[in-house]
Amino acid sequence: MRSATSGPADRLCETVLRFADRGLCPATGGNFSTRIDANRVLITASGVDKRRLTPRDLLSIGLDGTLIGDGKPSAETGLHLALYNADPTIGAVLHGHSLANTVLSRVGNPQRLTFSGYEMQKAIRGQSNHADQLSLPVFHNSQDMDELAGWLRERFDEATLACAFLVRGHGIYVWGTDLVEASRHLEGWEFLLDCELQRRTLENGL
Ligand SMILES: [Zn+2]
Repeated sequence: MRSATSGPADRLCETVLRFADRGLCPATGGNFSTRIDANRVLITASGVDKRRLTPRDLLSIGLDGTLIGDGKPSAETGLHLALYNADPTIGAVLHGHSLANTVLSRVGNPQRLTFSGYEMQKAIRGQSNHADQLSLPVFHNSQDMDELAGWLRERFDEATLACAFLVRGHGIYVWGTDLVEASRHLEGWEFLLDCELQRRTLENGL
């Protein structure tokens, strides 16, 4: 595999290692990317243990899906590219599998999860009040990335308000203008999902 530009590659690795240490990438799961320029992104290769990621495990790929160099792209590369192609201001896309995002997207098969009353909602771009309602869309899971990308296009405006969406029983996708904003969105959403899972468990158990 070929490492690309050292700056973005190092920053992407640092980001992945941080979230892998927090348990968002069990069993080689999850994939992470950042934009290099208007036409190319760096993305984690398939099947790599994210806790041991190095710049050699990153692939450079064009927004049209053309692999630059060698290596095996993740099956979910197509969903990352769909996001970059849908919005040229997106500079980073992060995808993780956590217990909270996997479970909450399944309970009751929701079309969206709605959050209100959490100060952490303000971690998401454009949110300024804990009392507002903040929705996180949930899409069906599919092994067909074209199908998933089609559902994303249908509900892209809704997902843009959250800078994120869930794939049922699978994980979360978040994005931002750069790795810093995307990381804040991932931390914020995972905190909100943890809170909501705990709240529901406690309320149902009382
Ligand atoms: Zn995944």
